[in-house]
Parts: sequence; structure tokens; C-alpha cells
Amino acid sequence: MTIEQQEPFRAIIGDRLSAIAEELTDLEQSTEAISPDVSIGRLSRLDSMQHQQIALASKRRLEDERNRLLEAQRRIDAGSYGRCLLCSSDIAIERLEIQPDAVACISCMRRR
Ligand SMILES: [Zn+2]
Repeated sequence: MTIEQQEPFRAIIGDRLSAIAEELTDLEQSTEAISPDVSIGRLSRLDSMQHQQIALASKRRLEDERNRLLEAQRRIDAGSYGRCLLCSSDIAIERLEIQPDAVACISCMRRR
């Protein structure tokens, strides 16, 4: 993959990172500890705890994605973005447009 082909992904990754930052801010509100003196019923307390668990899981998922995107940015800096880490062939541009943090090509992913 040439440098010219890699550069446009900076913007795609940047957009995704801002979207993740926003989602994480929203989630932060849902994961704040539920105060014990909040006068909510037993069922709604269970309900909010369940919501909190779901929010925490989403938070972890988003943080993982953010780490992979930051890695992808470093690969652009190094000029090695879009190269499959397993077989060193180019990852299809269409695949990277959908999943800019992809580190392996389709054939390697299928083989796993
Ligand atoms: Zn591969």
C-alpha cells in the first residue's frame, strides 16, 4: 500500500476516534456508581445495576477499539498501514474503509 493510499485513513480513523470519545462521555454518566440513598425501588435498583453492567461492557469494547485505532494511526506514521500482519500482503481498501483498525487480510482472517 502506498503512502498516498494510507493517508486518507487518518481522517477516517480520526472521525471514529471522536465518535468513540463522545460515546465514552455518554457512557461515563451511565456507569457512575448508584448511590445507596437514592430513593428508587428495589426493582429499579436492580434495573439500573443491570444497565450499569451493560454500559461497562460497552465502555470496554469502545476502549479496545480506540486502542486498535491508535495502533492503526501509528502504522500510518510508520508507513506500514494496510499491510496484513500475518502474510504481509495488502489488506483490501474496501475492508479498511469498513474496519479501519483491521490488522489482517480476509484470507488470513478466514484461515484462523
Ligand atoms: Zn494475510
